[in-house]
Amino acid sequence: MEYFAGIEAGGTKFKCIIANDPSTIIAEETFQTVVPELTLPRVVEFIKDTSSNKGIQIKAAGLSCFGPVDLDPHSPTYGNITTTPKLKWRNYPILNFFKNNLEVPVAFETDVNGAALGEGKWGAAKGISDFVYITVGTGIGGGVIHNHKPLFGMTHPEIGHMKIQSHPDDSFPGNCPYHTTCLEGLANAPALAARWNIDPATLPDDHPAWEFEAYYLGQAIHNLILVCSPKRIILGGGVLNRHGLIEKVRIEAIRILNGYISTSYLDRIDEYIVPPLLGDRAGALGAIAMLTKSSN
Ligand code: ZN
Repeated sequence: MEYFAGIEAGGTKFKCIIANDPSTIIAEETFQTVVPELTLPRVVEFIKDTSSNKGIQIKAAGLSCFGPVDLDPHSPTYGNITTTPKLKWRNYPILNFFKNNLEVPVAFETDVNGAALGEGKWGAAKGISDFVYITVGTGIGGGVIHNHKPLFGMTHPEIGHMKIQSHPDDSFPGNCPYHTTCLEGLANAPALAARWNIDPATLPDDHPAWEFEAYYLGQAIHNLILVCSPKRIILGGGVLNRHGLIEKVRIEAIRILNGYISTSYLDRIDEYIVPPLLGDRAGALGAIAMLTKSSN
């Protein structure tokens, strides 16, 4: 069997899995995201130690990375993290670090594209050619998969920063430093905390916070349906662990679409807007999915 290293480089932690697929995981480890000089050598050491302890060869590695990142293979800064607020990681050539230190081919994607590819290969969008994966947590990100591949043009899409309308009863000014009231600025976890001046985890399930949240995510899904025409939308991230929220989002999305799109997909909204299946392994497994030949 061939083994691969899947690395999810997240803003708070790195997750690394050695496997061929989700049923063949032989090692798995998580490392805190501190600074590159501390965190990255630990990841390399884990991969090399696993390889020697288990007597296997790692054929290639995949990296799903927090960003923004430079995904343009023709760019001189391809494989760099770019404008992150984490200063020690800004402009860091993370792809080259792993290429130089692992001495195997390394595939590179955004963290959300990685998670989307994992869900597309083994999870909630298995076998589906065109879908969108959205994660709502400290930030809001998403991957648009078209014909089994992440959409990439000028750069990768930034779903979290689409402009949406504030709820008529919401006076929160938004917290995105670039756009104030974009989706992320209105609906990420820090926006919830700032709007209600409380840790969102302590809000009850019937708090108006979740009506606002569903209103914002419903608008985002409306826009994504009209622009990208996905066959499924996966909605994950820490905020979506809230009991009943995904049901509220489904209702809002249908209400906002207002009958404009008529398809059997939307008639089965419970199968159209769905939670992820791979949990916190999606990004690292997705990094492995980038390396295996068939993408569906
Ligand atoms: Zn924004």
